[in-house]
Amino acid sequence: MSKDGFVPKDLLEKLAKEGNEEAKKTLVQMDNIEQKKTKAKNSDDAENSDDPEISTSVAPPQAKREIYDSENTEDFKKKLVRKEGDPPTSDENVNFAYDLCGQTLDYFKNKLGRNSIDNEGMDLISNVHYGIDLNNAMWVPGMKQMAFGDGDGKLFINFTRSIDVIAHEAAHAVTEFTNELVYEHQSGALNEHFSDVIGSAVKQHVKGQTAETADWLIGDEIVGPEFPGKALRSMKNPGTASQFDHQPAHFNDYKELPLSKDRGGVHLYSGIPNKAFVLVSLEIGTDQAAFLWYIAFQNKQIIHSNATFEEAFEAIVHAADMLTSQGKLPQQAVDAVKNAFREVGIPSRIPESRL
Ligand SMILES: [Zn+2]
Repeated sequence: MSKDGFVPKDLLEKLAKEGNEEAKKTLVQMDNIEQKKTKAKNSDDAENSDDPEISTSVAPPQAKREIYDSENTEDFKKKLVRKEGDPPTSDENVNFAYDLCGQTLDYFKNKLGRNSIDNEGMDLISNVHYGIDLNNAMWVPGMKQMAFGDGDGKLFINFTRSIDVIAHEAAHAVTEFTNELVYEHQSGALNEHFSDVIGSAVKQHVKGQTAETADWLIGDEIVGPEFPGKALRSMKNPGTASQFDHQPAHFNDYKELPLSKDRGGVHLYSGIPNKAFVLVSLEIGTDQAAFLWYIAFQNKQIIHSNATFEEAFEAIVHAADMLTSQGKLPQQAVDAVKNAFREVGIPSRIPESRL
């Protein structure tokens, strides 16, 4: 699986085309990461193939945080600067990464019942000051680590400074360990959507906000003074966050795009299910809605690696049914889901097999 990072590649490409040097530099560094990922994935596959799994653990392991300083190189795990239990350092970005990773892990545990990104207590590894003025943050599949750029200070500031960035990237890791949603077209938009859901839910929890009081913006805390807008995306009002935000909020506006365009629109069409999530959150509360989405996305039978929006809807209704009958969600959850998705045009028609 391949990722563009928190900032969509096509946005950086547009800026680069307009002559923005920082965006050009970020694109070159992202290409380098792409090559590293492929290398790591290949050696990972080779290791796994002749290494039978032996499990001897009795108590579930506790995830530990490790923060490395890339010292503005493109090296992973270059210098360990803060590990679990260590006191704060003099570098505030290291401390942001440490604290926000902790808040994310706590949310996973307390609100979702998940033991770290792999549900088996895997350590959460961050690399800060990655690259030079890198305008991005990413979960790097294969490397099984996160990397955060400093930003150029104009378009973006340091990416460790926002809980929605860190929780969004950690949620990509959860997806990698669960349904491996292919990062293209609708399955890729669902992959992005799930990360925005978790990013927003953790953010609201940490900031003591509710579905009603939250601004539902994604990336509002890491945009710099020259960024042409207030955030990268708006879950509540898709298409309104910036000059570059063209997210539609209704499935009628979905078109098949070539992979060359944002991998078929992974950051474009995530707005459609995002809006449905906001509507459900307004009915049953954000934490409850995030729990519902999390349980639904664990259903690999329905949300398989090439899942469509309609399949995601089906899985969410199914999970809502189950959780309400178990008393884990309020009764109105099922109707809330159906109404919310109807409002964004899903399902678009009754599948023929059910007529
Ligand atoms: Zn993402």
